[in-house]
Amino acid sequence: MKIAIAGAGAMGGRFGYMLSKAGQDVILIDQWDVHIAAIREHGLQVNDGDVIETVQLPIYRPEELVANPVDIDLVILFTKSLQLEGMLQAIQPLIQAQTSVLCLLNGIGHETTIEKYVSKENIFLGCTMWTAGLEGPGKVKLPGGVNGYVVLQNLHSESKQTALRIAEVLSTAGLHARYSDHVLYEIYKKACANGATNAVCTLLEANLSTFGETTCAETIVRTTVGEYVAVAEAEGVDLDIDAMTDFVKTAFDPAGIGGHYPSTYQDLILMNRRTEVDCINGIIAVKGEAYGISTPYCAFVTELIHCKEEILGAI
Ligand code: NAD
Repeated sequence: MKIAIAGAGAMGGRFGYMLSKAGQDVILIDQWDVHIAAIREHGLQVNDGDVIETVQLPIYRPEELVANPVDIDLVILFTKSLQLEGMLQAIQPLIQAQTSVLCLLNGIGHETTIEKYVSKENIFLGCTMWTAGLEGPGKVKLPGGVNGYVVLQNLHSESKQTALRIAEVLSTAGLHARYSDHVLYEIYKKACANGATNAVCTLLEANLSTFGETTCAETIVRTTVGEYVAVAEAEGVDLDIDAMTDFVKTAFDPAGIGGHYPSTYQDLILMNRRTEVDCINGIIAVKGEAYGISTPYCAFVTELIHCKEEILGAI
């Protein structure tokens, strides 16, 4: 299968690497010139914690591919949420009638953006519990062992067979992908975890364990999760507040990922980049308002993160 990874940063690097090792025909699409130059010169360097391996993968800026188009069977979108529309605009000429587009970004509601550029039958939504980091241009780090997974579903009811095929291709590469008839449940579940911790850890400048040990953590997590549960229910997604709260709290374990600083912290505090808060917490406030559901915690942390982005001059 000809697979284009649209956004070849940390996660795009991981998926590109694993799919290419499994024999798929992978190309990377990115716009970060130093990263592109490093991969062209040395290959993509992949550090899985034990071994450092280098793989040769073709990488292009979007406009290079548009000028010399190739037939693509599957596009996997892996930009940050704020970059999604720019990527879709740039690669739209490459998306043909047979091109499936899979979105694995964190957050809720990306289909609204994707539907502007891709026909509904070709859109597949999902989420992933794999993780990845960048150690520098051309260098991807793969933390978190081998227990990641992907859950995905077709947006259009008639595209289920293609969704099953995509899941099979990803699984053959060890990405443990499964089809779900109810992928929104999985997307909301992951959004609960991100929504109850990412912004708060960033504002407190604390890792997950440090936040989790505070006396207010239980209330903050349960109240935030409650807002997700209420909005999800209005969208026909049945989440249990106790189960979701317990799920979020597993992240506080210092023996697990408790030492981790969430991606919002990494984007804003470490990289001085604007964050994905609008698609993680802000979207719950927006949807809550539309449904007449009160979401003060999500609304407030979204505003605080935007204040911090402004104060820090994040770009
Ligand atoms: P990243 O910043 O490392 O990678 C994004 C890449 O997209 C960058 O290399 C950037 O140059 C490229 N890009 C952006 N706009 C572009 C455009 N218009 N044209 C070409 N290239 C463009 O981000 P990431 O950490 O890989 O995260 C991607 C998504 O996956 C996010 O939604 C994130 O929340 C989600 N996610 C990340 C992790 C993780 O562990 N990093 C885990 C699960 C989900």
